[in-house]
Amino acid sequence: MTPDTHAVTHAVTHEEWIRRAKALAPVGAHLIDGADAPGAGSSFGALSPRDGRTLADVADAGPAEIDAAVTAARRAFDAGPWPRLEPAERGQVLLRLAGLLEEHRAELALTISLEMGKPITEAHDIELSAVAGTFRWYGQLAGKLTDEVAHTTPDALALVTREPAGVVGAVVPWNFPLTLAGWKVAPALAAGCTVVLKPSEHAPLSASVLGRLGLEAGLPPGVLNVVNGAGPVAGRALGLHPGVDVLAFTGSTAVGRHFLRHAADSNLKRVWLELGGKSPNIVLPDAPDLDQAAATAAWGIFFNQGEMCTAPSRLLVHSSIAEQVTEAVVARARALRVGDPLDPATEMGALVGEGHLHRVLGHVRTAVEDGARLRTGGARTLTGTGGVYLEPTVFDRVAPDSPLAREEVFGPVLSVFPFDDLDEAVTLANASEYGLAAGLWTSDLSTAHRVSRALRAGTVWVNCYERGDLTVPFGGMKQSGNGRDKSAHALEKYTELKTTWIQL
Ligand code: NAD
Repeated sequence: MTPDTHAVTHAVTHEEWIRRAKALAPVGAHLIDGADAPGAGSSFGALSPRDGRTLADVADAGPAEIDAAVTAARRAFDAGPWPRLEPAERGQVLLRLAGLLEEHRAELALTISLEMGKPITEAHDIELSAVAGTFRWYGQLAGKLTDEVAHTTPDALALVTREPAGVVGAVVPWNFPLTLAGWKVAPALAAGCTVVLKPSEHAPLSASVLGRLGLEAGLPPGVLNVVNGAGPVAGRALGLHPGVDVLAFTGSTAVGRHFLRHAADSNLKRVWLELGGKSPNIVLPDAPDLDQAAATAAWGIFFNQGEMCTAPSRLLVHSSIAEQVTEAVVARARALRVGDPLDPATEMGALVGEGHLHRVLGHVRTAVEDGARLRTGGARTLTGTGGVYLEPTVFDRVAPDSPLAREEVFGPVLSVFPFDDLDEAVTLANASEYGLAAGLWTSDLSTAHRVSRALRAGTVWVNCYERGDLTVPFGGMKQSGNGRDKSAHALEKYTELKTTWIQL
C-alpha cells in the first residue's frame, strides 16, 4: 500500500465496472460444514454506500447458527484430515486458494468496492493482491517449519513442538474485509486449525466468496466456515462459545474488551486483538523531502477514506515548517477526487455507511466547538448520489487533550500539531492510549534510531508510511492490541507449544 500503487489504474472503464456490478449475484447464505446454510429465516440487507442500494439479502446468524458452525469446525479439527495432513499438503491447498483469488480478482474487487465503498482500483490492485499474497505466503511457509529439541542431560530427550491450537473464531471488520480475514484465516489454516469466520455485517459478501473458493481449492468441509451476522449477537455467541479455542479479532478497542470478557466468562479461550489506533506522524525540518512528507501525510490519512487502523491521523510538524507542510496537505486534500468507487479515476470513495458518517461528522462538529480551526473539508458531499461521501478534512489548532486529538475517528480527518523540540514531539506522539503505528521524517540516522525506539508503537515507518511486506509482523502496543498478524510470528497465535520429555 504505497502512494505509487495507489496511483495504479487499469484498463477497465467506469461503464464496464458498472455493467459488471449489475451482473453481480452476491451470496448471502452462511457456509457451514461445506454447504450453503440459509439460516433460520432472519436476514439483513447488505447496503452499498456507493448509492444506498441493497446488494443482497444476507442470512443473519443467531447462537444456533454459530453453534452449528463451531460444531462443524470442532468435528473437522478433532476427527477430520486437515490437522493431520502433511503440512506441505495443507500448503498446496492454500496455494490453490491464492490462485483462485487471483482468478476471481475482478468479481471480488467489485464486491468489496460495492459493499464498503473503497475505490475499485484500490480493491483490485491493493486488496486483492494483499489477500492472494497472504494465502500464497502461508501456503509456501506451511511445509518449511521445524520444531525444536532442547538441550538436556544425555539421559533425556526433550521435544518442543508446536501443535495446531484447535478451532479458531475469527471476527473481522469491514475496512479491508478480505485482507484482514486472510491475515487470520491463512496462518490458522497453515497451522492446521479449523476456522469459523464472522465478517462484519457492513461487508459480508466478499468473505462469502472466500469461503466458497476455499472449498473449491480443496479445504475439507468444516475447515473454513463463514457465518454472517450482527456483532452483538453472532460475534458475541462466537466469543462465548466453549468449543472455540482461539478468538482472533480485528476491530475496535471497545469490542476487543468484550472478547476478553467473553473468554473470562466461558472457557478462557486465547484472545488475540488487533485494535484501533491514533497514529502520530512526525515531520522534522531535516526530512529528506518535505514535499514527499506532506504528500505522504495526505495520502496516508485519505487512503481508504481514512478508514485505516494505522491512519496517520495526528500530523506532528516542527513549528518552523508547520505552515508550509499544512498548506501542502490542504492543497492535496482539495485536489483529491472524491467520487463513485466504481470510477477508476476516483481517489477517495464512500464511507462505509450512514451511521459511520454521522459518527465522523460528530467528531468534526465537536472539534469546531472545541476551538479547532477547520482548514478544509468537514462536510458531506455528492448528496445527489444517495451514497455516503465526505470531503477530505484537515484541522489545526487542535487542543492536545480534546476528543479529536485522542479518539479514533476512522475517517478522512487529519489534525495538525506543531512542536518545538524532539522531546516534545515524542511526548505528544506517545500521549495516546493507542500504540499501533507511527511515522517519522528525518535525514539523521541517529535521530531515526533514537526516536523510533522511544515511540510506543508496533510499527514505526521512517521516511515513508504504510510500507510493508508479509515478512514483517503487524500489530499494536498498549490498547491497540496484542499478538501479531503477518510473518511467521502470526503462527504463534494459532499453535500451542508442547514439551515432551522422554527419559531414556
Ligand atoms: P467493530 O469493532 O465495530 O467490529 C469489528 C467486528 O466485531 C465486526 O465483525 C463486528 O460485527 C464485530 N462486533 C461488533 N460488536 C460486537 C460485539 N458487541 N460483540 C462481538 N462482536 C462484535 O469495528 P469496525 O467498525 O468493523 O472496524 C473499525 C475498527 O477496526 C477501528 O477501530 C479500526 O482501528 C479497527 N481495525 C484494526 C485493525 C488492526 O489490525 N489493528 C485493522 C483494521 C481495523
